[in-house]
Amino acid sequence: MSDERPKHRAKKSLGQNFLKDQNICRKIVDAIVPTENDYIIEIGPGRGALTEFLVETDASKLVALEMDDELALRLDERWPNLEVIKMDALKFPWESLNERPCKIIGNLPYNVGSKLIWDIVSKVNTLQMAVFMVQHEVANRLTAQPGTKAFGGLTAWVKNYCTTTYLFKVPPTVFRPQPKIDSAVVRFAPLPVEEWPADPKKLSELIKLLFQQRRKQISTILKKRWNDSIEEWFELEGVSPKVRPENLTPKQFSSLSERL
Ligand code: SAM
Repeated sequence: MSDERPKHRAKKSLGQNFLKDQNICRKIVDAIVPTENDYIIEIGPGRGALTEFLVETDASKLVALEMDDELALRLDERWPNLEVIKMDALKFPWESLNERPCKIIGNLPYNVGSKLIWDIVSKVNTLQMAVFMVQHEVANRLTAQPGTKAFGGLTAWVKNYCTTTYLFKVPPTVFRPQPKIDSAVVRFAPLPVEEWPADPKKLSELIKLLFQQRRKQISTILKKRWNDSIEEWFELEGVSPKVRPENLTPKQFSSLSERL
């Protein structure tokens, strides 16, 4: 039936770079370690390059979030057992997944990848594992160590919720149309919920404040909010207030934010 329809044209505005290499697709799906009874959510299934391998797993439930009307319809027709939700993943109520363990996977659209990851890791407390393909540069940020240039606000936030592993690089040649940059696949393994930040709102505020001026010393950035408790924090941690934001560890961002 789909053969009679006009060919779907890739939309740049939706970050539609479709994978055409089956070996890479299989490798990405294997990275989520599919097991029996898994509940898997795929973000941006597109033309089904990863979905094709996901439907072959023993997952007990498979849900796909796709924003493109036409692609959502085609996926729905192709795999009746796949639950296709036609919506913007940025508007998905991630907390609603907190009823049973789940895994999330996706070759994420470049323009919304970081925002989606920011939300997912902090809102889905039943997440078992996530595997996302993102721009290579974003993958470097997600897996950066403190004290390096790649360590940024996204790193500090995500690493308060997950450990991140850079799995492998993916060249532009395996996509159609080809993007201009390299991509990479990252695995996210959540930390125990008891270790998550006590006050995410304060943590997010601090991270945004500090990384907006990442070249300045922390004492300069926090000058207007300085208090005895912050002073004490630096003494207790044995950290100079003159360091730059990228020199704190993820956990230090969280504990410092509680002193604000
Ligand atoms: N998974 C497919 C693959 O690997 O070939 C497609 C990946 S493509 C990089 C990104 C997909 O996400 C596209 O199908 C696009 O329509 C969809 N998409 C873009 N923005 C979205 C959003 N905000 N919410 C849900 N899906 C989105």
